[in-house]
Formats: sequence, C-alpha cells, structure tokens
Amino acid sequence: MRIRILCFSTLLFASLLGSAQTAGTSSQTSEFPKEIPSFDLSAIDKSIDPCVDFYQYSCGNWMRNNPIPPDKPSWGRFYELRDDNLYVLRDILEQAQAPGKRNAIQQKVGDFYAACMDESAIEKKGTAPLTSTMNQIAAVKTKRELTKQIGTMHRDGIPALFTFGQMPDMHDSRQTIADIDQGGLTLPDRDYYIKDDPKSVETRAKYVEHVQKMFELLGDKPERAAAEAKTVLAIETGLAKAAMDRTVRRDPHTRDHMMLAADAIALAPNFELSEYFVESGAPKFSSLNVSNPDFFKAVNQQIDSTSLDDWKIYLRWRTLDSYAPALPKAFVDEDFRFNGAFMSGQKEIEARWKRCVKSTDHSLGMALGQLYVDKTFGPEGKERTINMVHAIEAAMHQDVADLTWMSDTTKQKAYEKLNAIVNNIGYPDKWRDYSSVVVTRDEYAGNFRRASAFEVQRQRNKIAKPTDKKDWGMTPPTVNAYYRPPMNDINFPAGILQPPFYGKTMDDAVNYGAIGVVIGHELTHGFDDQGRKYDADGNLKDWWTPDDAKGFEDRANCTADEYSSFVAVKDDKGEVKLNGRLTLGENTADNGGLKLAYIALTSMIGNTPVKPIDGYTSQQRFFIAYGQIWCQNVTDQEARRLAIIDPHSPGRWRVNGAVQNSAGFQQAFGCKAGQPMVRENACRVW
Ligand SMILES: [Zn+2]
Repeated sequence: MRIRILCFSTLLFASLLGSAQTAGTSSQTSEFPKEIPSFDLSAIDKSIDPCVDFYQYSCGNWMRNNPIPPDKPSWGRFYELRDDNLYVLRDILEQAQAPGKRNAIQQKVGDFYAACMDESAIEKKGTAPLTSTMNQIAAVKTKRELTKQIGTMHRDGIPALFTFGQMPDMHDSRQTIADIDQGGLTLPDRDYYIKDDPKSVETRAKYVEHVQKMFELLGDKPERAAAEAKTVLAIETGLAKAAMDRTVRRDPHTRDHMMLAADAIALAPNFELSEYFVESGAPKFSSLNVSNPDFFKAVNQQIDSTSLDDWKIYLRWRTLDSYAPALPKAFVDEDFRFNGAFMSGQKEIEARWKRCVKSTDHSLGMALGQLYVDKTFGPEGKERTINMVHAIEAAMHQDVADLTWMSDTTKQKAYEKLNAIVNNIGYPDKWRDYSSVVVTRDEYAGNFRRASAFEVQRQRNKIAKPTDKKDWGMTPPTVNAYYRPPMNDINFPAGILQPPFYGKTMDDAVNYGAIGVVIGHELTHGFDDQGRKYDADGNLKDWWTPDDAKGFEDRANCTADEYSSFVAVKDDKGEVKLNGRLTLGENTADNGGLKLAYIALTSMIGNTPVKPIDGYTSQQRFFIAYGQIWCQNVTDQEARRLAIIDPHSPGRWRVNGAVQNSAGFQQAFGCKAGQPMVRENACRVW
C-alpha cells in the first residue's frame, strides 16, 4: 500500500513525498553508502561570487558532480543521508529476518521485511489481497450502505471520499477530539483537476490512461476500463471542486468548526455519518470538528446526483490504487510509470530492498526505530543536541527582546510560549507496542493492511481522551524534524542528528550552520504565520495586541512577496513561480532559523578572530554549511509538482532567499549594496 505523509505538523522538508512505492522489482545492484562530509569543500564553485549567487557558490560543483540517480526524482545532500540510512536499516532487517534466536521485535520487523522481499510469493498471490474488499464493494446495495463500506475501508487504511481522524481540540489542546475533513483525491492536489493550463490538461489525460490500465490489469475489458477511468476522474473532479485550497487552509481559523455530532450528521445527511461513526471504530463522542463544512455540503449533493454503480467504481479504484505497490510486478510497474516516471520524472523504480526498508519503517517504524537507536544513537547524542537547543532558545529570547516593532506586552507572551516549548530529541521515552499486529512471512499485502489497521485504530483510540503529547509523529530513523503547533513541541529524530547536519568532529560554526539552523527553524515555526496563532498551551488563542499583529503581517507580507518572485521551474511547459503564501511559514522559519543560530554562534565564539579553517572564517563556514545542506538537483517534473503542493521552497531559494535578508551573511562575505545577495529592503519577521 501507499506510504502517506504526516498531518498537523510543520516539517523541515517534504517528507516521504514522491513516488514512495513500497513493493515491486528492480535490477539495480546495491552499493555501499559513501561517507557524507558535514562541510564539503569540493562542492564549492569558486568561480562564482558568493555575493552574486550564494547557492551556486556553495553548491555549484556538487550540482555538477551529483546528477540525479535514475531511481530518484531529486537528489540532494540530505538525500544522501536518507539513502545511507537505508543501508543501516537494511543491515538491521537482514539480521532480524535471519532464522535463529530473535527477540519479539526482530521477529516482527524481520518477517515483515522478508515478506516484502519475497516477490515470488507476491506473484503467486496475484490480486487475492484485494478480493475481500472488492467483494464487499460489489455487495453494496444502497447508498446508505456506501458510507458503511467507506468506514470499513478507512479502518484498513484505504482512503476514500473524505477523511476521519483525530486532533487536539483547537481551543483546549489537552483534549483530543474527532475531526472530519475533505479528501478522496488520487492526484496530489485539487489544482490538477481544476486548472486548464496545458500541463494540467495533459496530466488528467495521462491519469485517465493510467486508471484504465490498472483496471485492465485487474481483469476488466478495455472498453469497460476506459469508461470506469472517466467515471473516476469525474467523481474526483467533483471532490476537488468542493475542496478548500491548500494555501487558504494554512490559516487554522478556516478549519475551526466545532459542532455537535448531531449537527454534523444533519449538515450532510447523504453521508450517513451516524452509521459511519459506529463503523469507524472510534469511541463515542458527542461533538467534533468539521474542518471544511462546505466540502460536506457540496459532496452531499454529489452523492445524490452520482449513481451507486459509479460510486462503486470509485471505491474499487481507491482500493486498487492503494494496494498497487503491494501487488504483482505488472501493477507495480504501471503504478510507477504514472506516479514515479510521469508525475516526478523518475527514470527507474528504486531497488526493491529500499522500498521494503521504507515500507517496514512506515508500518512498524517504532519497532525498527528501537533497533536503530540501539545501534546508532547513544545518550551522548541526546545531550549534545539538548545543549544546542538551549543555546538557540536563549538566542531567540535575545532576538525577541531586541525587536523594535513589538510591544512589551506581546513580548512577554512570546517569552511564555518560548519557555513552554517541549524538546523531543532522538526517540520517544516509551516505545510503541506492536504485539497485536499479526505479521507473517508469506503475506506482504496482508501484513501491510494489518499494520495500517493497527495504526488507524491507535489514532481512533485517542478520541475523547486527554491528548498524548509524548506520542511521536515521526519514527527515529527519519531524516527530518518537525514542530507541532497544538503540542508546542520541537522534534528531532535520531536520523537527522548525523552528518551533514551534525558532525561529532566538526567545528561549532559548521554544526550551528547546519543542525543549529534546523533547530532555529523549528523554533521559529512556533511564531510563523500559523504558529503565532497558537498560545503557549497550543490553543488557538490570539495573544497579540492589534498593533503588533499588524506589525507581524506587514513583515510577513514582505517575505511572501519576496519568495513569490522566485522561479520554481522553467521548461517547455512554461514557467512556474513559487507560491509565496503557501511557503510563507517555511520561509519565515528559514530566515528566523538562520538568524537565531547565527546569534547563538556569535555569542559563543565572541568577536575575537578565530584562525580560518580551509581558508574560511567561522562566520563564512557557518553560512556555507547552511547553503550546503540544501544542495540539490531536481527534475523539472518534480519541481513543478512540488511548486503546487510543497510548503517548502526549493533548495536554491531556501539559501538565496534567506541570505539576501541577512546582515550577518553580507558582513561575513563583504557583500556590497546593489549586489544580488544584498536585498535593498531586507525582509525580517524574527
Ligand atoms: Zn519547516
């Protein structure tokens, strides 16, 4: 089944996006990972003036010498770490799958991995893993039964029509409540269904072709499959039109609609939500949040106007699409052809073992993570990181104190929030118990389904209970980091606390420029355009004076306009600029993170000149380390896809966009007014 991304948190970068297939075949041979330097002299292009294009200066040679591997849609310095991590995890899994004396955790993850690798068993099973769900769909006799069936599918982790989940109450984050929201699309965003530019039109044509092929593989006659594909597109277009734009959704107030369960049921009677809630496996609840009431109203009509047979075609498709990566090779290849090759420009599918490692991490990640942490991450890793976090928190305190546009009243509230931030480093205090998940060695799709169902139920069980702020949103091997506004916590999994982000033997300047900026980035998320709307307790509560709120908005607008002028991709299909509003929170966090980490470094090393290393001062090494975190090459297709859905800017603009606003950078490299890396009216929020 397909790997999905995490909600309700602000990540360091897009996590697990792209064609994250979890099964299939590839002829690629595996190589040993190479060591990743924290500071890469050979990446620098000295023919470029750092004050003209700092990204090109920091990364030019890296970009030339590191083309995108055929099995990836993009490649960058932190992707190298992600890839290296897969080798470490494979060692763990190969040991865990070997017969002999294994503990319960090894047995669980080892058998899961072994079943995923057993392609002949998967071929032999054919489409049998779909049979029970397909039979249930076929047996649906009325529209009333439709929602019940969707409830069953949701419990197995198959997404359709809308989403049902849980979240901390926006107004009392101590309590977790149920939430229903828009959903049901296969393509990555509503824009793909609605826009009429040539690329969107082409994408829809290719999508219909893909759906048809998948139905044909399932055994449907070509003519019937072609009609079914058109039906799927028509239904999903209806859902897309009813969905809220992702940029609008950034404002949490647009999603804040608490209501009685009875009112939600009455809002969209055709959804038969009372049946659904019973079927969903959630504990009883009397009220819930409806993130997008307009979606439910609009789709309520659509349920009426679309025939039952057409709805059943849509459910068959969602099931087929969801399981595709766990089916025989023909399905995996077709799934890759569309999602990997066409949508992301990836030339080859990833080696099977890599997909199986990712799949195990996705399904049983806290068990695999436990073995990973034992092998790679000691208590000293935790301690060093906490010390850096404290230094950067102190820098933020200093930074807020120095702001000239903010009143003391609001500053006091900002300090309160800053002091309340919880730091989660490395791995959770308590490991997740997967003992109830049945894993067999010969049934990959079944294992995946049971692990998905376990996770869905685990999330359901949180409803109507005190919020578990200790539950992690990422597994320990993940190379990423996140901030969660309702939890007011920053989280750094063990996976990211390695080179190029953190090097044990590196000078402070380099570590502060890399993981230090990441820490500052996550801290700043608590105070970006979304985060600032939540208070110290994680509640949606305005703690700003009107003047200070306006001061913030004016400064944020500067950042939004700046990034909106940057080009994300320019190819034969035209030019796409960044959406400065969609990426506002991340850009604010990048600018803030760079500033905070620099303050922390400066207060540590002072102003006494340090002997340059490799010809660079500490200040210069700090900024180059930052620039080099984001060295990357991206296919045009992937750049285009990310410009629509990714709240993060591409590497070039994460670097150049932020240093243009940084007086510290300009000083470090002696840049002069009028040069491209010196912005005339620098944007500064924090
Ligand atoms: Zn972020």
